[in-house]
Amino acid sequence: MKYVVIIGDGMADYPLNELNNKTPLQVSVIPNMDYIASNGVNGFLKTIPDGMEPGSDVANLAIMGYNPKKYYTGRGPLEAASIGANLKSGEVAFRCNFITEKDGKLADFNANHISTEESKELIKALNNELGHIGTFYLGVSYRNLFVMENENVASLKSMPPHDIVGEGIEENLLSPFDNDNAELLNRIMKESQELLKNHPVNKKRIVEGKNPANMIWLWGQGPKPEMPLFKEKYGFTGATITGVDLIKGLGVYLGLTNIDVPGATGYFDTDYDAKAKYAINSLDTHDIIFIHVEAPDEAGHAGNIEEKIKGIESIDSKIVGKLLDELPQFNDYAISILPDHATPIKVKTHTVDPVPYAICYSNGSKDETSQYNEFSAKRGSLGTIEGYNFMKKFLMK
Ligand SMILES: [Zn+2]
Repeated sequence: MKYVVIIGDGMADYPLNELNNKTPLQVSVIPNMDYIASNGVNGFLKTIPDGMEPGSDVANLAIMGYNPKKYYTGRGPLEAASIGANLKSGEVAFRCNFITEKDGKLADFNANHISTEESKELIKALNNELGHIGTFYLGVSYRNLFVMENENVASLKSMPPHDIVGEGIEENLLSPFDNDNAELLNRIMKESQELLKNHPVNKKRIVEGKNPANMIWLWGQGPKPEMPLFKEKYGFTGATITGVDLIKGLGVYLGLTNIDVPGATGYFDTDYDAKAKYAINSLDTHDIIFIHVEAPDEAGHAGNIEEKIKGIESIDSKIVGKLLDELPQFNDYAISILPDHATPIKVKTHTVDPVPYAICYSNGSKDETSQYNEFSAKRGSLGTIEGYNFMKKFLMK
């Protein structure tokens, strides 16, 4: 038996005036997703537990069969794992953004998408000057990491920089402000300004008319999560196919193989065909494959209806269709399509709404559903369940 889970990040949406009161999924031409829905069973998943932030990390952890309330410790440690920074017990990993500060405000949460090459120079400088407090690690572009040995910093309140663009720096620093650890780390963030503003990388950026990476922003911190391996918990070997660090990090902690696909960018231009091809090849050596595609989420954040539909249709024709063609060679199989969370065009951010999911077994039963979208799943036989129960349900047969 082979299992395939296809996750269209942020694919679910709300009805839009521009689409005659229909959702992007409803107007997209998706015969392959419809095939799974009409030949399988359908329902809604609550991928974000009550009281938690609707992040892709939380949602995908739930889809992989782990209760985020029990296992989630923050995004920092997930990204650390994906770049090979192994956290020891007692260590805490922060996401360390390069940002642009201007007139005391956070002007740009990614310093104009600074290049990894430039970040590499800045990270080196940070480690030389501020390395006594902890270690800075190079990630990709503005997305870097900071690891320190002090488990108490895990409980500080930190602000995601993309949520506070245009707001003041001071009032959004780590808090409580009178906490010694918060004070120390806030001082480090301010010292980074002195160090970075005069760095040749930034001087050059300013000449070129780009936003300088003139401050670091620490957030999303947590200790190493303690999770049973997927193989131990569910008895199957698995692999992930994704262009996104967070999902790769989950893969590391769960003992899944992260399959590197050339051209998987985590953006609109991702190579859908390559993802499908690598997925099919990896089924020879793994029982379950998670294929994650970021494009619809990026389109949701950008409020771009056209790109969202294009992303959904590309997933359908190039990934779902290809898998449906190739899976019969494995005899018994199961395939599921779902988003991790909704990223509605109207709100341009993630929401906690339960998402529709469809599962089709090669020799399984079907329900009354004939299409795949946010509304058709209401006719499904699976009802609404907690996201972390999806895996049990999926692997039941
Ligand atoms: Zn997501």
